[in-house]
Amino acid sequence: MVTVIKNGIIITMENEKIIKGDIVIKDNIIQEVTPHYNGQCDKIIDAKGNIVMPGLINAHTHLGMYNFRNTNDDLKLMDWLNNKIWPAEAKMTNEEIGAATYLSCLEMIKTGTTCCNDQYFGFRENFDAIVKSRIRCLYTRCLMDSDDQGDKRFQEFENIYCQEKDKNYLITFSVSPHSLYTCSHEYIKRCSTYAKKHQLPIHIHYMETKDELKMVPKGALKPLLNNKLILAHGIYIENIKELQNKDVSIVHNPLSNLALGCGIADIVKYKKANLNVCIGTDGIGSGYSLNLFKHLPFVYLLPKGMYQDPSIITAFEVLKMATINGAKALGINNLGLIKKGYKADLIIVKLLDKPINNYFVALLTNNSEVLTTIVNGEVLMLNKKLKV
Ligand SMILES: [Zn+2]
Repeated sequence: MVTVIKNGIIITMENEKIIKGDIVIKDNIIQEVTPHYNGQCDKIIDAKGNIVMPGLINAHTHLGMYNFRNTNDDLKLMDWLNNKIWPAEAKMTNEEIGAATYLSCLEMIKTGTTCCNDQYFGFRENFDAIVKSRIRCLYTRCLMDSDDQGDKRFQEFENIYCQEKDKNYLITFSVSPHSLYTCSHEYIKRCSTYAKKHQLPIHIHYMETKDELKMVPKGALKPLLNNKLILAHGIYIENIKELQNKDVSIVHNPLSNLALGCGIADIVKYKKANLNVCIGTDGIGSGYSLNLFKHLPFVYLLPKGMYQDPSIITAFEVLKMATINGAKALGINNLGLIKKGYKADLIIVKLLDKPINNYFVALLTNNSEVLTTIVNGEVLMLNKKLKV
């Protein structure tokens, strides 16, 4: 099956060159990027002079939180979690979590996200909803042992991992201890050992609030440092040196961090230390929306203000964080660029404000709409009509 996307303004994300032309997809893989394709094909999608770019990658979210949008605003993280979110989540049925997860997937597909890193529970229904949506996902079952359910949660994770690991090409797995303040040292070590044995990344909330510096004993992260590690938030990281030259990625969640008054992660510092920085929305309960295009302006503008230096970060760097850096963090090979041999996860975006003088800046600051979303060569939305 050969699909050709014609007449695109192609942002490959490999470099800052923009190519006007066509993309040839064979089954699920990008075959060619060319100014003009004359060969045979089974299907043509006309981009009509709009931007074609890699699909966005949401590197930290909780898809089951769909119904928490604007429910418990203006609260501090621990008050929000302990007194509002966890009690509400305890009342949710697995069916409700499944339905919420599916709606989250649709919101991502409609707004140009083709891959996400989810951490939630309600495992079977949550998992099935993601499969049904046909979005790409690094999946897990959230783990913690601050109550007596630690073993049960681990068993649930292991069950779904063993049942599903070889079945679905679009779903890969992480081991996901919730945080260092909800997991014992022994439990963290158990996660690390399991992840190493099965070559899975670890996905964990890390240094989201200043209090965590006091709550978490020094060296608590150590058992995970030889794992492939995805650290969500990372606002108060004091051990940068320890993280360097390891397979560590930091997921910046600017809206959630601002909403909960947690602070602002200094991504410039991490970038300078050569840590891989990518972007997440967090769950809708704190991040408001799974539309990454609403989050990216903050990624672009906050450092300029913090450093009083507009040159400190460029639009291209921000878009890299939302595409190729996300793919690297999630450990999914050949994803995040429009390039021969890469997975065909791409989107067509219409910029609404004219004139357009810089496509990269415009993608972050212009009003835009995602017209078409393709995951693994399959069209999930075409000209704003969902196909899932
Ligand atoms: Zn989170």
